[in-house]
Amino acid sequence: MASTHIEHAHDAAEFIQNQERTHWHDQALWFVRAKRDKAAGAVAEWEELRSLAAQIKQHTLSRLAEYLEQFEQQATGRGIKIHWARTAEEHNQIVLGILQQHNVHRIVKSKSMLTEECHLNPYLEEHGLDVVDTDLGERIVQLREEPPSHIVLPAIHIKKQEVGETFHKHLGTEEGATDPDYLTEAARGHLRAKFMAADAGITGVNFAVAETGGFVVCTNEGNADIGVSLPKLHIACMGIEKLIPRAADLAVFTRLLARNATGQPITTYTSHFHGPAPGGELHVVLVDNGRSDLLANEKYREALRCIRCGACLNTCPVYRRSGGHSYHATIPGPIGSVLNAARDPATYHSLPYACSLCGSCADICPVKIPLDQQLLDLRGEMARRKHLPLSKRLLMKLVSFVMQRTWLFSFSGKMARWFGPWMPRFLVYNRLNAWGRQREIPEFPKKSFRELYRDNDG
Ligand code: SF4
Repeated sequence: MASTHIEHAHDAAEFIQNQERTHWHDQALWFVRAKRDKAAGAVAEWEELRSLAAQIKQHTLSRLAEYLEQFEQQATGRGIKIHWARTAEEHNQIVLGILQQHNVHRIVKSKSMLTEECHLNPYLEEHGLDVVDTDLGERIVQLREEPPSHIVLPAIHIKKQEVGETFHKHLGTEEGATDPDYLTEAARGHLRAKFMAADAGITGVNFAVAETGGFVVCTNEGNADIGVSLPKLHIACMGIEKLIPRAADLAVFTRLLARNATGQPITTYTSHFHGPAPGGELHVVLVDNGRSDLLANEKYREALRCIRCGACLNTCPVYRRSGGHSYHATIPGPIGSVLNAARDPATYHSLPYACSLCGSCADICPVKIPLDQQLLDLRGEMARRKHLPLSKRLLMKLVSFVMQRTWLFSFSGKMARWFGPWMPRFLVYNRLNAWGRQREIPEFPKKSFRELYRDNDG
């Protein structure tokens, strides 16, 4: 947890200073969104699938304890070792303990937002272990010592020229090289050596099935598969909300996930794990880290339905123009604003305001999380907790006072229409009025709506 609160608007302002990057970031994500629309539109029963997915997830959450126990029982029967972690610290300690038991020094890891959330990499590095992220985008941000800026496209904020510079510095590629094929080939060679030398593989979990005790990992690069095929030790880290009841339910989610995430009909690799490899060990670490508290929160528990497709980020006009790092959270965008502000309002109270309330996130969400409504509710909560700046609180009180008195509201409108056009610019556009920094107040109308209505009525 961060010790001080974050100011999304402040960091977004930094991001948009580079207008070229902002435009290109916006366009790149909109391209993914358009691909998603095409893929979703090609499935006639898309809306039925979304409703079904939302119902399955909601049902699972309503009996989460039962399904978790069923999963543990089934998985244990298959020779999988199950561990329970209440917090991120416990998760990290458990993973380190397993690695130390096996005398592991080199680890390859495929993309897992949970391990990002728990800050597993720095923890393992502090204990002298070498952890390599093997998803290409993740590896790029790891080499640059940056966090991912998107949950599906971790390096979407980085240009190929910057990737070229990073690879030149760390992998010894030619200076100035920007050809994506050349750079990818270099990364491939670099990662292959890491795979060959690894003593253990760590993966995330996309879906775990209570009925079978198995789980599924979806990747496009096959890095999770190779990462757990060569070493004998596989550790899978999953948030407790990743559970679904039956194997039959998987079809609903695999059809939705890739289409909604990147517009692909299915992820290139959808790998099912039902036990350790011959002679090996498979551990699953089930992590709570605040999820039970969110489950107990009637208003925001639906956010636990999230399958991390990233579509709400791609469609969000604020995320696209402010970049993932401005959220200062493992999960940015609309779902990140809900999850982080609901769990830690003192730190993340500015995130519910990183939203235009356009509702596009809720429209696109494959599990129908009412993100826009939740963000609106969170704003109310932040105001009740007095997390708004004093100036805004006082202004809101004044607006509320005026709007509750019809005569005063009409009078204020009249005053604004009379004096507004004559007001010197410095009184309107100054340091106190952030709104006016990038906008012009529209021309004042001659008459109010009420006056126009009266004039035209009969
Ligand atoms: S909230 Fe919905 S749209 Fe956003 S990442 Fe989660 S599942 Fe995808």
